[in-house]
Amino acid sequence: MSSIGFIGLGIMGGPMAGHLVAAGHQVTGYNRSPAAVEKLVAAGGSGAASVAEAVRDADIVITMLPQDEQVVEVFTEVLEHAKPGALYIDFSTVTPKTSEWTAAEGAKRGLRVLDAPVSGGEAGAVNAVLSIMVGGSEADFEAAKPVFFAVGKTYELVGPNGAGQVVKAANQLIVGGTYALIAEAIVLMESLGADAAKGLDVLAGGLAGSRILELKRKSMLERDFRPGFRIDLHHKDMGILLETARHAEASIPMGALTAQLIAAARAMGHGSLDHSALLLVAETLSGRETPNEAAS
Ligand code: NAD
Repeated sequence: MSSIGFIGLGIMGGPMAGHLVAAGHQVTGYNRSPAAVEKLVAAGGSGAASVAEAVRDADIVITMLPQDEQVVEVFTEVLEHAKPGALYIDFSTVTPKTSEWTAAEGAKRGLRVLDAPVSGGEAGAVNAVLSIMVGGSEADFEAAKPVFFAVGKTYELVGPNGAGQVVKAANQLIVGGTYALIAEAIVLMESLGADAAKGLDVLAGGLAGSRILELKRKSMLERDFRPGFRIDLHHKDMGILLETARHAEASIPMGALTAQLIAAARAMGHGSLDHSALLLVAETLSGRETPNEAAS
């Protein structure tokens, strides 16, 4: 069992830290807002008042933070205060460039570094069934397996540092694009009087079926856009995707279009809604009123 310093106890990090406590690890948590730390303490972990305090004695340091900016800020402190030889796992979704930077700077101080962004949403974190895309060395991946086992169901080493983030960007491309297509399909069916609920049931059982159609078709038809995964965060991830594709000199027109639809959702004031609210954009583009006021 390891001594773990866990920074960023939000929607995802909170339940993940709880699972590590339940698995028998000694977890010391730090979060910018203290209420989240109190929750971890109530679950059997320890609380810290700073990054330095959380990581000082840790064999493993974990971050689960919103964006590049916070990861750079917190990792700079980790570099200063973590024990040489400690394993640093960043579960946040950030640019591959930032993950490569943490690996290079960590190596200078004797830290072992993995980028390990996740997919599966809040439910995946709560039920410890996340999919984890890992970038780094084989040896560090092996060392991190007890952590991945405690919070996830599927985890793969997909390449060197930064590769986990590249795979996560590909994940967000497919997820965003799929929502955009389902949204257009709903507008089309409803516009012409087809039974959209039965229509989506049939589609879910055929080649057009997907996990998103399976899990979200009911809430989309009801215009229930409570998050889940917020448009604001998906907008951040599409920025990572476009930057990564530009760097790779890869042309991703579908990704660019999806990024614009997500940007439109934000511009329409839907940033805090679930990403399935792309349906509101599809409706607006076709001049339709959303049938249910619950969406507003
Ligand atoms: P969140 O905003 O709920 O949690 C982030 C936490 O970090 C907050 O509790 C915040 O107080 C804390 N924090 C921010 N800056 C800090 C700092 N400098 N020091 C200490 N604590 C700080 O976000 P989340 O939904 O848990 O997402 C975290 C990451 O996981 C993001 O990169 C997101 O894209 C990714 N992700 C989220 C989901 C999801 O469904 N929510 C799914 C997959 C991946």
